[in-house]
Amino acid sequence: MPPSERRLIDDCFLHDKDRLRHADALAILKARVAPVVGTETVPLARAAGRRIAQTVTAPRAVPAADNAAVDGYAFAHADHAETGGFFPLSQRIAAGHPSDTALPPGTAARIFTGALMPQGADTVAMQEDCETHVQDGLDFVIVPQGLKPGANRRRAGEDLAAGAGLVTPGQRLRPQDLAAIASTGTGEVAVYAPVRVALVSTGDELRRPGAPLPEGGVYDSNHFLLRALLEEAGAAITDLGILADDSSLVHDTLREASATHDMILTTGGASRGEEDHLVTALDALGTRHMWQLAIKPGRPMNFGQIGDCVTLGLPGNPVAAMVCFLLYVRPVLAVLGGGPFPEPRRFQVPAAFSVPKKKPDRREFYRGTLDTDGKGRTVVRKFNRDGSGLITGLREADGLIEIPEEATQVRDGDLVDFLPFSELGLTAG
Ligand code: AMP
Ligand code: MG
Repeated sequence: MPPSERRLIDDCFLHDKDRLRHADALAILKARVAPVVGTETVPLARAAGRRIAQTVTAPRAVPAADNAAVDGYAFAHADHAETGGFFPLSQRIAAGHPSDTALPPGTAARIFTGALMPQGADTVAMQEDCETHVQDGLDFVIVPQGLKPGANRRRAGEDLAAGAGLVTPGQRLRPQDLAAIASTGTGEVAVYAPVRVALVSTGDELRRPGAPLPEGGVYDSNHFLLRALLEEAGAAITDLGILADDSSLVHDTLREASATHDMILTTGGASRGEEDHLVTALDALGTRHMWQLAIKPGRPMNFGQIGDCVTLGLPGNPVAAMVCFLLYVRPVLAVLGGGPFPEPRRFQVPAAFSVPKKKPDRREFYRGTLDTDGKGRTVVRKFNRDGSGLITGLREADGLIEIPEEATQVRDGDLVDFLPFSELGLTAG
């Protein structure tokens, strides 16, 4: 093989300048991936976390009519001056039991939270602020001065006007979205089917927890990392287990899985070592769209397709596997599943660490933990050990610190980009 060609495929000899930059990798993913899943209708009780596949509009106003925001006494504000706040009680109105008569002028109604305001009343005094009084066997209430007209009254439509749109197709339904849909009376919704993902670990050294570990063995922690990340992203997972470092086994497994899945997610065997068979199998079976990124960690990350099935190959090192999942796999899952390409927000936070010498031409992601300095300012600390095998650093982190290609150092106090895990779809523990 001539040296020029060799340079293109051998990651050890490839300079970061010749590797694909992070932004270009995202652009390739954006350009190549399209929604693939169908839709199904589910009751609201099973819709949490699903991607909605329709618009939902409010068929009627919410609340449907003016009602009391507190337990107390409803009256016409204009009557207060005339009565001096001394109102005979003319009716009692509980939630779910609207009054069929208007409020007689100069009187007040005993009312409870959520009960419809009687016609003629516009203001509610809280029961804690009122005094009741019995005179000649009749009930009165003394309402203090100073309430504004309309106080403690909820207006019809103040939450949702009739016809208001509630959700955007593709968005994942959060608890508060389900509450809004339910409040309009809609009981079932069309959602996108989960993305079907085949999950594969590769490596002769790997064993599943629970099995004895031979000399030189390593437990397959990535399977559990990735399975949980996929579950958080709403995917339907097929566990294809651990593949030995055997080219025909890797080839046959990828070919079979591609026929019945929307995505194959592999971990390990992604470099060009003699025992790394993934890229060779991908090249033989389909098309590779990217490999060799100018990032750290995660350089050998790859992306391609076998027929209509997307393949994403993560490095075997746990830190690289998690970082690459969050940066590249998560957006692909979102788009395949009918959602928008996620654009996580970055926050500029002062660094409570320094990196005297950073290699230019590559983007680096450190595990970052938020902290408070002596002056009460939020700062970010960097996990103090390198090594992409250290799961400990992932556990301590609140997110990723992102250092751009052109940076050659980070000084204590410099503002750095911080990507909280919450922006990357992970819920706090
Ligand atoms: P590889 O990408 O196959 O060259 O693996 C890189 C490193 O990650 C090696 O130290 C592997 O033992 C380790 N590794 C690979 N796959 C896994 C896995 N599923 N769980 C934990 N460690 C792994
Ligand atoms: Mg390996």
